[in-house]
Amino acid sequence: MTDTARLDIGGLELRALEDAFSKLGHPRFHARQVFQWIHKRGVTDFAQMSDLSRDLRGTLAEQCEILTPQVVRVERSIDGTTKLLLKLADGKQIESVFIPDTPSQTFCISSQVGCAMKCGFCLTGKMGIDRNLTAGEIAGQVRVLARELNMLDARFNIVLMGMGEPLHNYENVMQALRILADEHGLAVNPRRVTLSTVGVLPALERLATEPVMPNLAISLHATTEDQRDMLVPINRKYGLKELLDACRRFPVKRRERITFEYVMLNEVNDTPEDARRLVRLLHGIRGKVNLLPLNEAAGIPYERPSDDRVNRFAKILADHGVTVSVRKSRGRDIRAACGQLITETNRSRLPGRRLALAMEGRG
Ligand code: SAH
Repeated sequence: MTDTARLDIGGLELRALEDAFSKLGHPRFHARQVFQWIHKRGVTDFAQMSDLSRDLRGTLAEQCEILTPQVVRVERSIDGTTKLLLKLADGKQIESVFIPDTPSQTFCISSQVGCAMKCGFCLTGKMGIDRNLTAGEIAGQVRVLARELNMLDARFNIVLMGMGEPLHNYENVMQALRILADEHGLAVNPRRVTLSTVGVLPALERLATEPVMPNLAISLHATTEDQRDMLVPINRKYGLKELLDACRRFPVKRRERITFEYVMLNEVNDTPEDARRLVRLLHGIRGKVNLLPLNEAAGIPYERPSDDRVNRFAKILADHGVTVSVRKSRGRDIRAACGQLITETNRSRLPGRRLALAMEGRG
């Protein structure tokens, strides 16, 4: 077989890998061994899979491959936040971030190259969508981070808050989450995973029916239809009211809540009236609010409000019984905070264009 005909098995769930092995003429139980090597130990070179016979290792290397994002650059912030620039098999680049001690350890990963949502304050949106990441690339980011940081046996959280809109790449994201949750792999409990979305309603309704579900974070950012139409354009298709109704119906487990992310833009959506409207909107929803003071960037026509304005807004929510936190930026010195991640993209297609990756920087 030639290289181009090799089957990429990095994005296959265990059952699918067993089926693939059957088709290739190998006993199914070897699939579990290979799955463990890839997803539990981060080993992608068949030659190193020492519990397989030499013959099988050789045949597998001819028939299969495990496409894995390659680390191009590692940058470490003084606060310990670590940003990895990763190159995909087709040369496109994404960034993934490790945020330590929040107090848990958190991996922030991407779901797409670029993003189609065009939110007014997010640089990734300016770029438009390039392509979806495959399930193998999404799960692969976690395994690369875990291996690079010596954390294959550590406990960590995952937030889908990097580049891209996860519910715009539903199948691949859910497949990746099932691979990550598999007990034969990294066994990441779905309760440790948070999916952040602008609210692609049909996909959100579908998520509500999944047997295994991540925590949900909704990028709300505005309290009126008009303002959300402007800041989060998908609101013109799936409006604020419908989104909040869907949140009301969403099956939130006992002791858990939906997080509502609210980016704070100076004198745009940070007034006391906005805060009071937010209180009313969230009435009857098991939710909490995470305020994200804007991380400013060139090309973004908004400003970060003063701490006083942020605190005044937070106090109104708290005084009305809404749980609220303010996200502290992490890794600003290496441009790894929300809206600060920038990768050079495929130069031949988009010369000189730069991408910003919005991400979680919970403090
Ligand atoms: N597409 C998903 C994941 C995006 S990133 C979503 O929209 O939810 C996670 C969060 O960072 C989102 O709430 C996003 O709106 C926010 N964000 C984007 N740019 C930002 C910036 N410049 N400053 C602060 N937060 C930003």
